[in-house]
Amino acid sequence: MSNTLVWLKRDLRLHDHAPLHAAHAAQCEAAALFVIEPAWLHSAEFSPSHLHFTLQGLAQLRRELAARGLPLLVRVGEVPAVLQQLRAEWPFERLLSHEETGSGWTFARDIAVARWCQAQGVAWQEFAQTGVVRRLRSRQGWAGRWAQRMDAAALPAPGAFRAARPWPASSLPDLPTLHRLGVPAPTQALQPAGEAAARATLQDFVAGRGRGYRRALSSPLSAESGCSRLSAYLAFGMVSMRAVHQATEAAIASTPDRALAHGLRGFAGRLRWHCHFMQKLEDEPQIEFRNFARVFDGLRPGCGTPLDDTHAARLQAWCEGRTGYPMVDACMRSLRATGWLNFRMRAMLVSFAAYHLGLHWREPGLHLARQFLDFEPGIHWSQMQMQSGTTGINTLRIYSPAKQAREHDPEGEFVRRWVPEFGTPDYPAPIVDEKSALKAIKDRLYGLRATPEARAEADAVQQRHGSRKSGLPPSGMKRGSAGPRGNSTQARTTARTAKPAEPSPQGELF
Ligand SMILES: Cc1cc2nc3c(=O)[nH]c(=O)nc-3n(C[C@H](O)[C@H](O)[C@H](O)COP(=O)(O)OP(=O)(O)OC[C@H]3O[C@@H](n4cnc5c(N)ncnc54)[C@H](O)[C@@H]3O)c2cc1C
Repeated sequence: MSNTLVWLKRDLRLHDHAPLHAAHAAQCEAAALFVIEPAWLHSAEFSPSHLHFTLQGLAQLRRELAARGLPLLVRVGEVPAVLQQLRAEWPFERLLSHEETGSGWTFARDIAVARWCQAQGVAWQEFAQTGVVRRLRSRQGWAGRWAQRMDAAALPAPGAFRAARPWPASSLPDLPTLHRLGVPAPTQALQPAGEAAARATLQDFVAGRGRGYRRALSSPLSAESGCSRLSAYLAFGMVSMRAVHQATEAAIASTPDRALAHGLRGFAGRLRWHCHFMQKLEDEPQIEFRNFARVFDGLRPGCGTPLDDTHAARLQAWCEGRTGYPMVDACMRSLRATGWLNFRMRAMLVSFAAYHLGLHWREPGLHLARQFLDFEPGIHWSQMQMQSGTTGINTLRIYSPAKQAREHDPEGEFVRRWVPEFGTPDYPAPIVDEKSALKAIKDRLYGLRATPEARAEADAVQQRHGSRKSGLPPSGMKRGSAGPRGNSTQARTTARTAKPAEPSPQGELF
């Protein structure tokens, strides 16, 4: 039987882990590997919090795997070079891993790994771990495929392995530290890492905490404990999407508590969104760098075009939480301190950067990627574009920070907590005049959206990426605005030039 190497990436768990399961089933000599890649450490999306969370997860997983006789090697370097070196120490013939829908640097690395495997005669097998479908031809039927995958039996934790001869699982060198890797300690107070914490968080949510989910998710005060807080665990694969889905459905089916079931049903819908948004990056990796609808290229400075002094100062003030808009600043400061923020406030931060400050989404998106412990490229870049109005097919959603404060922090508690100097001379004046800033950007956006090129492009974006479950007809028209077949020119024009809508409770699909 072939020696088998399991390559771990964002899948740091024992349960429901297809590559580990396959290596165990083969009863061959096996080892597991995690590579700390310089391309990651040097990427603009990387933060010390991400590495800290990873190392903590690895430490736990290594103990669990060692108890089963499987050595988990942690090496630093570019993956093909690390594989080459390992192969000289131990001739493995099979490489098993999960598929990854990641940033551009992971895409490039996977191409290099595929080439290396081909040249070396190593068979690389990849397994799906979310609802994202590789080489998807059409979005038709996607939701059904998602359900099929998520309802399939979850894999149990594997039993005992036959360790690769050179590396007894019980006597491996210590994991590298942040210090040794030249990475500073994180400044954020993070949630605990690892599969045990992920499973405990899930259990606690489906057993009771999810009861108030729908009510709690909009305010940054209540969302902190009212949302599931599973996003970082999902992003690093410390729990599988299937495990979360199945625990949720089981709780809905068995609980006599109707309020809990109601809350969990709302939550269950969001789990589909996770994969729905990731699928967009899988299908079109360029959306990390450029607009879904190219007609908006050049609309705002940034991403290739240098920022002038005014916009550079705006970006800096936004990143530091000192824009003079207290709700915006409170959200940014809270995020910087904790690594997490609820959906609505994330959307407000981005809307403010795009519409009030007139910034392209790329630089603000990189800043947020570094702040979010749960950075998940497929969700992140799709949402950055959606909240900036560059998908071409969504109703523009412009958040008023004052209205968000009135509705979701009516007593000013959140603002006082994070912006204690608000109301004193130390707090800056608003960095832009809201009314004139919004008028200028809206005039330009609506002008562009009304052009024939924009309409043609919107149809193409909707066809390729649009949700078939959102109720949007294929041409991206406003729901319910068109005739029976949903294809009148007038309706299309209305949808794409209509005045901005009030933000929906938790965003929408596109
Ligand atoms: C600009 C912007 C950037 C974002 N970037 C990320 C990101 O990098 N990583 C990330 O996981 N989420 C991202 N989100 C989506 C959402 O804000 C987070 O998933 C959510 O706040 C995480 O907290 P939770 O796990 O407690 O969420 P819950 O409300 O408990 O939801 C459970 C899970 O459902 C999924 N989910 C919930 N809302 C969404 C959504 N709107 N879109 C897609 N999936 C969703 C997530 O996997 C989440 O963990 C972003 C949203 C915006 C507006």
